[in-house]
Amino acid sequence: MKHNFGAGPGILPQEVLKQAAEAVLNFNNSGLSILEISHRTADFESVVSEACSLVKELLNLNDDYAITFLHGGASTQFAMVPYNLLGEGETAAYLDSGTWASKAIKEAKFFGNVNVVASSKEANYTYIPKEYSIPTDAKYFHVTSNNTIYGTQLHEFPESPVPLVSDMSSDIFSRVFDANKFGLIYAGAQKNMGAAGVALAVVKKELLGKIERKIPAMFNYQLHIDNGSMYNTPPVFAIYVAMLTLRWVKEQGGVAAMEKINNKKAATLYAEIDRNPLFKGTCAVEDRSRMNVCFVMDNADIEKEFLDFAKKADIVGLKGHRSVGGFRASIYNALPQSSVDHLVSIMQQFEQLKK
Ligand code: PLP
Repeated sequence: MKHNFGAGPGILPQEVLKQAAEAVLNFNNSGLSILEISHRTADFESVVSEACSLVKELLNLNDDYAITFLHGGASTQFAMVPYNLLGEGETAAYLDSGTWASKAIKEAKFFGNVNVVASSKEANYTYIPKEYSIPTDAKYFHVTSNNTIYGTQLHEFPESPVPLVSDMSSDIFSRVFDANKFGLIYAGAQKNMGAAGVALAVVKKELLGKIERKIPAMFNYQLHIDNGSMYNTPPVFAIYVAMLTLRWVKEQGGVAAMEKINNKKAATLYAEIDRNPLFKGTCAVEDRSRMNVCFVMDNADIEKEFLDFAKKADIVGLKGHRSVGGFRASIYNALPQSSVDHLVSIMQQFEQLKK
């Protein structure tokens, strides 16, 4: 068995993989593969509707929200958010907390004015900026809840005078938060929610239809919502895997249960990073992510040796992103505590080896 610490696509529950594999051969005992069924069938319509209900239930959303599954990954959402919410000449506020946030900022500039209220770029995004004010005339305030590359996370969301929009690609369904405080939430599925190829958007309905601009069909939230995520051929298999993953989250006890498990995993790993003299964390302690744990070695010359040592012990996906270096252990929902314990024991064995 491999211990998959990869950042994205990330680890999925074994049960989900088995069910998805079965459906590739024979979906719902139809004698057809999920890959060859029409999306306009009652069977698939019920998959989409169950996926939407699970999102609503797991996030405890009230009826002000619409849920839709879209193509194009989270990166398309960087453009789709301002396309739909930011009129020409209007301003949106953004928090620049990492590479993905800065890409979202870049896209928003195509549509209107962007006010970057704070940035931690000068410190290579090792912390979450906290000293800023949100302009009350902004159309929305955009934050990245978890910075996958740098391993920082917003542990508390700001009180915002304007609709709060969040990219939650790498921590959705991993912790409890009040989703009803948000104007819009989006997430690529391939970390905590399923396979690559689909993104989730949770949209407060009242925010739509407020700008003059004409929006091409594939970028128009309202159109996708009105068509039940089936304006065109949806990413059928990716939506199915997302539905299975959401079912699995519910079976584990929902988001609160996931949070408890995730907190324990993160605490175990950070404790070892702080104890083991060979390793050190890369981010401000108070902003450490409970999904992507970034760390380096005091002696960078032996990092490669540690990676090889870990690889021999069936640990995969541990190499850090090139902009941070070192290691990144992604400990998404589906990663069991036993994999974290295994990594810790390998770090301890390596310590002994180097004594
Ligand atoms: N936002 C965050 C926080 C991410 O971690 C990623 C990918 O890792 C993206 C956006 C981009 O997602 P996609 O590749 O689905 O466009």
